[in-house]
Amino acid sequence: MSAFRYLLFDLDETLLNFGEASRNAFQLFFEQYLSHQGLNPQTLYAHYHDANMMVWEMFEQGQMSIDELKVKRFEWMYLHAGLSIPYDQLDEQSHYYLDALIQSSQMIRGAKEIIESLAADYHLNVITNGIYFVQHARLDKLKLKPYFQNLFISEEIGHSKPSPQFFDHVLKTLVGAQTNEILVIGDSLKADIKGALQSGLKACWFNPGGITNETDITPHFEIKTWEEFHKILQ
Ligand SMILES: [Mg+2]
Repeated sequence: MSAFRYLLFDLDETLLNFGEASRNAFQLFFEQYLSHQGLNPQTLYAHYHDANMMVWEMFEQGQMSIDELKVKRFEWMYLHAGLSIPYDQLDEQSHYYLDALIQSSQMIRGAKEIIESLAADYHLNVITNGIYFVQHARLDKLKLKPYFQNLFISEEIGHSKPSPQFFDHVLKTLVGAQTNEILVIGDSLKADIKGALQSGLKACWFNPGGITNETDITPHFEIKTWEEFHKILQ
C-alpha cells in the first residue's frame, strides 16, 4: 500500500457524471416549463450551461452566494436566449431542476468500483463545491455515503475550493493525518489541484478528456481513467 492513507475526492466530473445528469435534468425542466413555446432545447441548454459555468466561477471567487447562484443561472439563460424572464417562477424552476438533477444522478465509469475497492484500506472523503442538500441527496441516491468518512461541502463550510480556508477546515477535521498521507483527486486544475498545492498536499488530476494543461498548476499525478488510479497508490 502507498504512503497515502487519506483520499480526498472531488465529486462532479470526478466521481459523478455531472454533465450527463445535468443534460437529463435540463431535458425534464424543458419539458415541464418550455416545450410548448417551440424553442430548441439544445440551444437553451447551451445558454444554461454557459450561465452555470459563469455563476460557479463567480461563486468560487466569492462574488456570489449559493442562493443567488441557484436562480441567476436560469435568469441569465432566459436573458441570453432573448426570452422574457419569469421572475416569479425562478425559485420554483430552480427547485424543479435540482430535484431532476438528483433523480438523474450517475457515476463516472469505473468510479463506483474504485471506491468500493479502496474503502477497506483507505480513509475516503469527499471535497466538493456544491449545494449542501443536493450533494447529500445525490450521494444517497447512488448509495455512496457509507464509503466516506467525511463529506466536505463548500456550502456548509462557508468557503469553497481552492481557498486555503476550505482546506484548513478539512485538515483540522482529519485529526492525526500527516499532510504527506493525504492525496487530493479532482478534475479541476483551478479548484482541486490548485487548492491542494496551496495547502501543501499532493494532488492527482483526473483528466479523462486528455486536456492539455496550459496553466502553471502542476499536479503530482494525472490519470485518464479510474483503472489507472491503483498504480498511483502502489
Ligand atoms: Mg469537479
